[in-house]
Amino acid sequence: MKKSKRRRFPILAISLAFLMVIGIVTIAVENGVADVLIPIVSNSQTETNDQTNTESTSSSMQMEESSSTENSSNQETVDNNQNETIPEQTPPNPTEEPVEDTTENAATEEPEIETHPMDETQSSEPDFPTENLEDHGGTIYLTFDDGPSAEITPYILDILAAKGIHATFFIVGYEPGTVREELVQRIYDEGHSIGLHGQSHTYSKIYTSLEALEDNFLSLQECIYNSIGIRPTIIRFPGGSSNTVSKHYCQGIMSEATTYFPLQGLNFYDWNVDSQDAGGANTAAEVFENVTTGLKPGRRNIILMHDSASKIHTLEALEAIIDYGFENGYTFKVITPETEIMVHKVAN
Ligand SMILES: [Zn+2]
Repeated sequence: MKKSKRRRFPILAISLAFLMVIGIVTIAVENGVADVLIPIVSNSQTETNDQTNTESTSSSMQMEESSSTENSSNQETVDNNQNETIPEQTPPNPTEEPVEDTTENAATEEPEIETHPMDETQSSEPDFPTENLEDHGGTIYLTFDDGPSAEITPYILDILAAKGIHATFFIVGYEPGTVREELVQRIYDEGHSIGLHGQSHTYSKIYTSLEALEDNFLSLQECIYNSIGIRPTIIRFPGGSSNTVSKHYCQGIMSEATTYFPLQGLNFYDWNVDSQDAGGANTAAEVFENVTTGLKPGRRNIILMHDSASKIHTLEALEAIIDYGFENGYTFKVITPETEIMVHKVAN
């Protein structure tokens, strides 16, 4: 019995001690220890929050300080707007797909056909270096080559006037005393930009030498000056700076020309959106499709189109193209001498 009591005593004692420990721990957790432990945890969180609050506070203070001036107040508004709009921001062009910028508008070079000086079907192989595709704010430059023509240009001017926008016209084959003179005058009077495409568009003449190419631009410039009193200084090479057809007449001429002309104050402008109205697009819908799929938000888009006599599809598509540009947040601009050069990859 003694042995039995002695055995039971430790068991009872241990059990009692165990229950007491549990009781103490339970009470401690509910009261004292919890009060001690929770601040330890929450203090570390508070430190983090305090850091955030400090930044927020200093930002708020900066805002408050800066809002005392008009400019800073505007800045605050802009920042707030950015915060609000960023999550909802969608590209202005919903149809945009990631497309490599370098070859999409490439025209196929064909052997030169000496048909009509206005014919630009022998285009080039545009290859757009990425440095020309930086953000320019989502702008559209409508450019018309090879005109003006009595058949197309007046109606283009009517549409541009109705829409309240301006475009850039690269003139070709100008002669005083003709309807072209009247049209160039109207283009100028209505606030559009006038560029030089050349007095001739015949590759076998203009690309025989750098001097011939320069004469082709300057003789046109002189004609325009004599008629309407301005000397246009923006130029577009027939076929673009990436044309390879010029190889047939003068090796390396485009490499020379793209360096030489800007030094003479004649900046040149290729394009990065091709309507393909000089070949490839056979309906107004195709012109529209080529332009709108070529547009990209957040950059400048220089669109190649033509206003020579046969370009009825361009005329038919123009209004819808302009509407599309407005609806998708683009700004329409004209090329001026201050506009940054846009150059294809020179291939000759
Ligand atoms: Zn042309």
